[in-house]
Order: sequence, then C-alpha cells, then structure tokens
Amino acid sequence: MTATTVDIHLHPKPGCDIIDITSRVATAVQQQGIQSGLVQVFSPHTTSAIRINENDPALLNDFKHNIDRAIPNNVHYDHNDIDVRKNARAHLASFMYGASESVPIVDGKLSLGQWQSIFFIDFDGGRSEGRHVIINMITAV
Ligand code: ZN
Repeated sequence: MTATTVDIHLHPKPGCDIIDITSRVATAVQQQGIQSGLVQVFSPHTTSAIRINENDPALLNDFKHNIDRAIPNNVHYDHNDIDVRKNARAHLASFMYGASESVPIVDGKLSLGQWQSIFFIDFDGGRSEGRHVIINMITAV
C-alpha cells in the first residue's frame, strides 16, 4: 500500500462559503497517475466540512437556509463567551456534517455518480490566511 498526500489552499468568502473542489481532487489523482485506489478528502479545520452532493445553486441555497433553521442565530452559545470570532454556530455545523469524504478511484478516475460533486464548506469563511484541504490518495501497490 502506498499513500500520497496533496495539500490544496483555498480562500473562502466570509460567512458560509461552499466551494466545489471536484476538479482539484480529480487533477491531483491524475497527476499522481493512480489507476485504482481510494482518495480521502480531509479538512483539518473545526469550522468547515467536506461533503458530496449536487452542485445546484438552488440546492446550495437550501443547504445554507437549513443550517440557519438547525442552528439558530438567536440563542446563547457557550463557545461564543470564550472565542472572539463568536463562531459557535460554525463549529456546530462542522460537527453535523463532518471533516472528510472518501471516493473510490477506478480506471484513473473518481467514481462519483453523475450528479455528485465534492464540496469544501467553510462555515466561518473570510480568513486572511485561507484554508487547507488534504487530498490523501491510497493505492494497493
Ligand atoms: Zn471557535
């Protein structure tokens, strides 16, 4: 088994920013020449998520509105008492959605379904230093 890691850098916009990184992941797999294996896409941040779904602007709006309903703005969050960014809602969204996804690599390509895209979701975007996503490719040879 071999593992190869590629780090990509993103500059999400302030607030909740949903970035389609499918082509970045596919390019990383192709550049390594991997024909068969698994790619894990991992976010090393506590206020972001990696998720797979359809890249439809209306659906992405629904996703943002659903977060507002699930994690309302008008209640008290203990974390906001100790973090100057007051980003408890962003942490809670990250808890709900998770930090990674894995996709099989078959015949040198991501075996995503026709309507599937890989998203980096920043729930607390706009940081000057940006964000990192780790693309971890695992092959059997
Ligand atoms: Zn925080």
